[in-house]
Amino acid sequence: MSQSVDYDRFINDLSARRKVSPIRELTKLFTTAPPGTIFLAGGIPNGSTFPFSRMTVELKDGATFKLEGKKIENALQYQPTPGYPPLVEQLQKFQTQVHGLDSTFWQKNSLLVSTGSQDALCKALEMSLSEGDPILVQEPIYPGTSAIIRPLNANMVPIGQDEHGIVPSALRSALSNYGSPEKVSSMKKDVPKLLYLNSTGANPTGATIPAERKKEIYDIACEFNLVILEDDPYYFLHFEEIDPVSFLSMDRDSRVLRFDSFSKILSSGLRVGFVTGPKELVSRIELHTQASTMHTSALSQAIVSSLLDEWGSEKLLQHFKMIQQFYKGKRDCMLASANKHLKGLAEWSVPRAGMFLWIKVPGIADTKKLITEGGIEHGVILVPGKDFLAYDDAQSQYFRASYTVASPEDIDKGFARLANLIKAEIA
Ligand code: PMP
Repeated sequence: MSQSVDYDRFINDLSARRKVSPIRELTKLFTTAPPGTIFLAGGIPNGSTFPFSRMTVELKDGATFKLEGKKIENALQYQPTPGYPPLVEQLQKFQTQVHGLDSTFWQKNSLLVSTGSQDALCKALEMSLSEGDPILVQEPIYPGTSAIIRPLNANMVPIGQDEHGIVPSALRSALSNYGSPEKVSSMKKDVPKLLYLNSTGANPTGATIPAERKKEIYDIACEFNLVILEDDPYYFLHFEEIDPVSFLSMDRDSRVLRFDSFSKILSSGLRVGFVTGPKELVSRIELHTQASTMHTSALSQAIVSSLLDEWGSEKLLQHFKMIQQFYKGKRDCMLASANKHLKGLAEWSVPRAGMFLWIKVPGIADTKKLITEGGIEHGVILVPGKDFLAYDDAQSQYFRASYTVASPEDIDKGFARLANLIKAEIA
């Protein structure tokens, strides 16, 4: 049974004060106005004065496509804030297919193209959090998220994870500190309203939340009237036979804001991501975008859109499969070196997605000094676990190792150096 959500609970005073930019709204008419409509409204530069005429994109597989004529004109021109219209349409179809969304989904939900997923995540948190507000976060947490939350003076409520991600009983127990589900659900202030997590190959733990556990977490979110911020940039970097089930796909109430990214699958420098979720919330992110960047680079969006056209869904799936195989090989390589050099000194679980091995050194109370100072001295750079904690005064026995770019030889050499470092510290 679905519940109706009052989205005012998730919109803070700052966000509520945002007003629609009348001129930005007019850009939507570019695509919807009847042919023959004369535009004398916007402060739009005349594209004929721009020096670029066409762009040819060559792909590594030898295929090429051109941005020319209307396509390059659009790619060089202001676009509507939710995104370059052909891309928005393609991404809606993509989400519908990937997450098995039903025909009513887009009546209540919408999608906005963002400048990487980080941009939409930042705007979503700024839309909702006020000073002193508690927010439930997976811990360890991606530092890019805590960097948004900290200056807002919101209070992170860390929820522990095991190798399968956030632990539902820990979530329930944290929530019970704020009162009954009825009380938490009905209040706007002083209670947690948001739950932030990574579903697939979490940063930094590499954990993927299994479907059954996701259902449990989703039910708790319904009980306590939470919005789930599903930050899932590693969704397509999984090493399973079948794609994971997302929170978005089980969202009967429209209480999931899902953040997707092309950074790990097409290009991180293009800065193209997208947010999908309740219209009431995505529209607030849109107002923020109207006032900040106006829209994500139209050229980046046009490149992605043309690539999706060029490839179609079959070629795209092949590309995902290639990426999955590539990173699986990298992961296995790092696991082999970990087994060779770190057995008995450190512990880890096997990540089933993502880019990271999250390694515990039981003999050391906090790895910060060892990993930063010792690592630089010994020529191996890793990230200490402390950098992924919600609060600076906490200690961590962990560190994060990324298997994405280093060669097998360098991974092996790096772990050999690390083993010496740990041995010297423990001795
Ligand atoms: N969320 C998580 C968990 C990440 O690891 C990253 C990238 N490091 C991002 C968001 C931001 O990615 P994007 O390049 O799409 O902005």
